[in-house]
Amino acid sequence: MLPDILGIAKKHNLILNHNTLNKKEVQCKCPFCEEDQKPGKQKRFYLSLNTDRQVFRCWFCDEKGGVFRFISLLERKSEDEVIAEFRKQKKSGYNQHPAERLSLSQLRLIGFSQKPNWGELRKQNLTRYKNQLNWFWTEWNQFLNEERKLAYATFFIGTITGKNQQSVDTIKAREREIGASLLNEAVKVYSSKVRPKWAKDKERLALEICNINNPSIVGGQK
Ligand SMILES: [Zn+2]
Repeated sequence: MLPDILGIAKKHNLILNHNTLNKKEVQCKCPFCEEDQKPGKQKRFYLSLNTDRQVFRCWFCDEKGGVFRFISLLERKSEDEVIAEFRKQKKSGYNQHPAERLSLSQLRLIGFSQKPNWGELRKQNLTRYKNQLNWFWTEWNQFLNEERKLAYATFFIGTITGKNQQSVDTIKAREREIGASLLNEAVKVYSSKVRPKWAKDKERLALEICNINNPSIVGGQK
């Protein structure tokens, strides 16, 4: 059986059109061209996921293919690599904890200098293996949380100063540095009806900062 394309989309935090969630064709924002994330296109969802055949297609940029190609694009790996990993996982019947997939450079970002040999550790001491995984995963998520807040502030500043492209480029560069998605989450928070308190705090701060530099910009927001 093929990997579930909708599960993959969820795992990568793609923005789904909730009205289509129980349908055969699920719509979501296209992470490849990001055309439907542009201002004024909040209601558009160009990427279509076929949950029967596990294929995808973007109606704007025409990126398309099967679920393995989908994963390879999202995780920036070759399709062969994705298929090999899938086969390996299927054979061992063992599902990797996401913390095990953190790279050494990601671990360094959260203050660890080495990547444990997870397979060995699991064999030697199951409790320690689990504790360590949870510890790493908690640290990573705390780090990612802060990164996402920062990305949101950057995105918001882009919208109020009219420098959207610049802020998007900054966020994308950071995504490449840390190997995790930030832009989708920022757009998701920005387009949600009820924004969390931290987002409002960041907005207030951004407005204050921009107000000092250029009062005319913020004038229009009130
Ligand atoms: Zn597209």
